[in-house]
Amino acid sequence: MLEATDLMVFYENMLALNNISISCRDNQIVGVFGANSAGKSTLMYSLSGIMLDIRKKEKMAGGERITLTGQLTFQGKDIMDMKPSDRARAGIVLCPERRRLFKESSVMENLRIGGYLATKAQARESLDYVMTLFPALQKMTKRLAGFLSGGEQQMVAIGRALMAQPKILLLDEPLMGLSPLMQATLIRAVKKIQEQSDISIIVSEQYARPVFPIVDYAYILENGAAVMEGTREELMDNPDVKSAYFGMS
Ligand code: ATP
Repeated sequence: MLEATDLMVFYENMLALNNISISCRDNQIVGVFGANSAGKSTLMYSLSGIMLDIRKKEKMAGGERITLTGQLTFQGKDIMDMKPSDRARAGIVLCPERRRLFKESSVMENLRIGGYLATKAQARESLDYVMTLFPALQKMTKRLAGFLSGGEQQMVAIGRALMAQPKILLLDEPLMGLSPLMQATLIRAVKKIQEQSDISIIVSEQYARPVFPIVDYAYILENGAAVMEGTREELMDNPDVKSAYFGMS
């Protein structure tokens, strides 16, 4: 459904993505794992199209030159030059790193903002779904997002993305900075989204371990390049992956 071929991104002369080809099929969960600066956010920005906006802003400010090349298709259609807002409308929805909530707005307002592309009926249905997926949010709808814990904020961020009627959800480091217990709760919720809808999911994380059990396929990035890829089973059986990413030998 989403296919990137030979994606390259340069920030000026710095190569941030080096010939990356990744694909996500219908209703799959695809993991993208890599250390700090491996290129995870750059990849998510390129898939969601935000990179085009960043490039435009940088150009207007007379700043660094960003170069983006390669092919990108969504449901068989070339979307390489499609604006991020049109990609969102088509169903490619990013849940960005560090959540980026409207901190001075309530949980409900944040969720409703996510539903701006939805019809009233869709928004109502998605809101019900978000509340079932994250029951903890039911009692917090009036609280300001900025006063929630990191994990609760991440629930709101994923909820907001679901309100936008995604066909593919891009989750950029959703577990960052959260306790193991909260990580487990969120990962269970991500798995449920896959089981209960036909949404596809690409999830990036620095540490593979908590996410690995739910991925169908995964890529390992190093310095902007995909150095390994495979199904969960293939990667689990790979001794290099085990030692480098799970601390097991
Ligand atoms: P993190 O876990 O730190 O978010 P990441 O895997 O998401 O890392 P990216 O943020 O995609 O990595 O960064 C990839 C590389 O590109 C890094 O070396 C980073 O410093 C560089 N980079 C990212 N954004 C810019 C920018 N706007 N201008 C210049 N270099 C950038």
